[in-house]
Amino acid sequence: MINLLEDYFELQNKLNVEKFRISQIKNWAFKKKITDINLMTDLPKTLREELSIDFHVLELDSFIEGRDSTKFVFRTKDGHFVESVLINEKDHYTLCISTQIGCAVGCKFCVSTIGGLLRNLSFAEIVDQYFYISIFKNVFIRNIVFMGMGEPLANFDNLKKATLIFLKEFDLSKRHITISTSAYTNYLKRLKEDNLLNKLNLAISLNASSDETRKSLMPNVVGSLKDVFELLKTYPLEPRRRITIEYVLIKDVNSSLKDAKNLVNLLKNLKHKIKVNLIPYNESPILPFERPNESDIYKFQQELLKNDISCTIRWSKGLELAAACGHLSRIRTFDMINI
Ligand code: SF4
Repeated sequence: MINLLEDYFELQNKLNVEKFRISQIKNWAFKKKITDINLMTDLPKTLREELSIDFHVLELDSFIEGRDSTKFVFRTKDGHFVESVLINEKDHYTLCISTQIGCAVGCKFCVSTIGGLLRNLSFAEIVDQYFYISIFKNVFIRNIVFMGMGEPLANFDNLKKATLIFLKEFDLSKRHITISTSAYTNYLKRLKEDNLLNKLNLAISLNASSDETRKSLMPNVVGSLKDVFELLKTYPLEPRRRITIEYVLIKDVNSSLKDAKNLVNLLKNLKHKIKVNLIPYNESPILPFERPNESDIYKFQQELLKNDISCTIRWSKGLELAAACGHLSRIRTFDMINI
């Protein structure tokens, strides 16, 4: 059996049919969300009888719906779990997609990294999170954030192939796809030079205003803050676009006024190119960190705003499902709680 996603780049050779037939099949599956070959009525009956196509590479294990988000747990063919979160925004849907099984970055505040990195997801497994969920929910998902489990730039080639499919087959806009990275400087250099991926939105997961704190929170990250900001200074940005600096605020770790002042110093020369997104830490029953109190969160924000740095607070959606930022895991949540 041929798999539409796994064999995407060589479908024509594999199916041995004319090019326009491949376009018809893709059109039914990706645009009309019909994956039953018998319903693809513009294909000749004989061809429909001959074709044997599998449309998904992932199997849905479970899903849980919250107020404004749904967490999906998928099972890969080799038996691992991958999580994605569909977020219901005011006027559109956003899907948070995983790019790896586990993660090697080792962020101390994140459950995705527990157990380390198992493997990269294939481009087909990355795309199928989107494909599966848009069929299952029968909605158009306008935005994608590569912000789920894994460091997307550590899986560069599959990220790029998946992005090509999102743009070409699902008609998504580059403006609506975001790569969130821990910004290893070697990954960032490669991204900067890639003329497709550097057109997507970029979010840097910073989380500290000194190398010492950053290293304690993100122990495996490669490169200093100075090197990261050197690279960002000349990062090619489309008109009216900005790089997002993500900063998870953790009580007694990186959320004091002194931390805010240090952050201002780091960012002051890049004001016109960046915006800061503060993410109050989402507490997890298996990690020791706490969310700062609200007044400290607002004081931190005020320090940035008064220094003319654009800054918003993201009160994460999906908290009640363990589907918020830093909560996605290759170990199913109910298993994790029993660890
Ligand atoms: S926050 Fe992101 S980069 Fe850090 S361990 Fe979790 S998934 Fe990996």
